[in-house]
Amino acid sequence: MPPIVAIVGRPNVGKSTLFNRLTRGRRAITHDLPGVTRDRLEAPAEIEGRFVTLVDTGGMDYEAEESLARQIVEQAEAALVTADVVLFLVDGKAGRTALEDDLAERLRRLGKPVIVAVNKVDGLERVAAMTADFHAWGLPLLAISAAHGQGMAELAEAIAERL
Ligand code: GDP
Ligand code: MG
Repeated sequence: MPPIVAIVGRPNVGKSTLFNRLTRGRRAITHDLPGVTRDRLEAPAEIEGRFVTLVDTGGMDYEAEESLARQIVEQAEAALVTADVVLFLVDGKAGRTALEDDLAERLRRLGKPVIVAVNKVDGLERVAAMTADFHAWGLPLLAISAAHGQGMAELAEAIAERL
């Protein structure tokens, strides 16, 4: 079994965009795990020459009737059950939210390797400003643009180091 890398984060931060980029579109094995979550997307990805199973935990973003908070907790819990490395994706344009503070604290306490990827940092000149908020969590952090492919080599390296 390849190691599992789970992408967690609130809706609209870019999880699916990152998932598609890292899996190069080889997506769409849909899993139904009763009591855990629905419709997690899993696909193989190659990270610095190692095969991993990448999980997009946001498969239910647009279907769920639960509150945002509940969705995020459920997604995170489901991912945490099996993940070997957790990619905590946040939106550098939107900044930190209280829910993300809670999730960060929980992830930190769980002791699994977590990487905070600050997404939507589309231009290099704004890296410092857009990531500043997120350093407060005390987690390893890097800036990426999933849409434009920036920071992908650094992200791959950070994941590979923790597999
Ligand atoms: P998810 O809900 O977390 O899966 O987020 P999506 O992948 O569906 O992306 C949500 C929105 O953010 C979409 O409109 C994406 O095009 C946009 N988005 C994703 N990555 C980036 C990025 O790196 N930069 C910018 N500017 N927008 C992005
Ligand atoms: Mg999504």
